[in-house]
Amino acid sequence: MLKTAAYAAFDPRSPLKPWNFERKDPGARDVQIEILYCGVCHSDIHQVRDEWGGSIYPMVPGHEIVGRVIKAGASVKKFKEGDLAGVGCMVDSCRECDACRDGEEQYCEGGGAVLTYNARYRDGTPTYGGYSTTIVVDETFVLKVSNKLNLPAVAPLLCAGITTYSPMKHWKVSKGQRVGVVGLGGLGHMALKFAHAFGANVTQFSTSPGKEADAKKLGADEVVITRDPENLKKLAGKFDFLIDTVSAPHDINAYLALLRRNGTLVQVGAPEKPLPVTVFSLIMGRRSFAGSAIGGIRETQEMLDYCAEHNIVSDIEMIPIQQINTAYERMLRNDVKYRFVIDIASLK
Ligand code: NAP
Ligand code: ZN
Ligand code: ZN
Repeated sequence: MLKTAAYAAFDPRSPLKPWNFERKDPGARDVQIEILYCGVCHSDIHQVRDEWGGSIYPMVPGHEIVGRVIKAGASVKKFKEGDLAGVGCMVDSCRECDACRDGEEQYCEGGGAVLTYNARYRDGTPTYGGYSTTIVVDETFVLKVSNKLNLPAVAPLLCAGITTYSPMKHWKVSKGQRVGVVGLGGLGHMALKFAHAFGANVTQFSTSPGKEADAKKLGADEVVITRDPENLKKLAGKFDFLIDTVSAPHDINAYLALLRRNGTLVQVGAPEKPLPVTVFSLIMGRRSFAGSAIGGIRETQEMLDYCAEHNIVSDIEMIPIQQINTAYERMLRNDVKYRFVIDIASLK
C-alpha cells in the first residue's frame, strides 16, 4: 500500500484538514503519479458541503491533477517513468456500453463513470482525489501532458478546460458566430479563451464590474455587467450559442431570451437548486436549453493537444494547501482570478 498525505473533508460544515491514507499499489495496467499540482473546482465546494447530496466522507477532493509518472505497470503502453501526466474527473467506466464505445465515458450507461473522488470503484472502495501526494490510475484514464506549457496552469484544463471545450465542439462553435459566456470564474475564463480561439465573436456576461478589463484581455469582444437587467434586454435575440457557467441559482430566462432562432444555451454550471424555465423562452424561436458534463478521455486528450498547439492555459493563483479553506471562501465571493491551483509540494 502507498502512504498518501492529503487534505480531507470529514463532514459538510468543517474546514478541510490534513489526513493520511493508503492507496492500492499500481497493478499491471496502472500508472502511479506523483501529484505536483491540483486545480480547485467549484464542484469541490459543492461536494465537500454536500450541496448535491450523497457525499462520501472522508472526502479528498481534486480532479484537476497534473504530475509525474513514478511507476508504470508491466503492461502500460502510453507512459514511462518520468513522463508528465494528467488525471481529470474520471478514473474508470464500464468500457462496454454505447457511450464508452463512443469515447464518451462521462455518460457511461453501465453504472456510470467512476469519478476521481466522492465515488466508489467497482469493488466498493472509495475514490480519493488530487488534494494528495500521489494517485494510481488505469492508464486508459490518464492523459498525456505537454512539457511546452506552464505545468500548474495546465491543471485546470482537466476539468474547467474540457467542460467548456466539449460543448463548444458538440454545438460547433465557429468563426462568425456570436457566442456568450455567462459567469467569469474558472470555467468561464476557459470558455472565453476557447470561444475566442475558435473565431467566434464573444460576449462575457458577469455580475462583477471589476472583471471587465480582464475579460477583454482573456478574449471578450464585449463585456456586459448583468446587475442592471436593462443591459441584457438590449441584446435580445442576438446570440447563436450561450454557455452558462454560473454556480448559484440565477434567472435563466433572461439569458434564453438572448438566443436567436434555433440558438442553444448549454448549462455547465451546476447550482444545487432547480433553474425554473418559462416555456415561452424556448417555444419562441425554437430555442434549446441543454446541459453538458465534462468530456470523454479521447476529447480531453484532443483538448490538451489543442492547448499545447495554441498556447492556451488557465490564469491561475497558486496556493499552498494550508490556504484551501480561505480559497473556498474567496471563490464563494467570486474573488478568484481565475483558478486556484494547489502546489502539492506544500503537503510533503
Ligand atoms: P467559479 O470559479 O466559482 O465561477 C463561478 C462564477 O459564477 C463566478 O465567478 C461568478 O462570475 C458567477 N456567479 C457566482 N454566483 C453567482 C450568482 N449568484 N449569480 C450570478 N453569477 C454568479 O466556479 P467554476 O469552478 O467555474 O464552476 C462553475 C460551476 O460549474 C459550478 O457549479 C461547478 O460545479 C460546475 N461544473 C460543472 C461541470 C460539468 O461537467 N458540467 C464541470 C465543472 C464544474 P461573475 O463574477 O463573472 O459573475
Ligand atoms: Zn471540476
Ligand atoms: Zn460505459
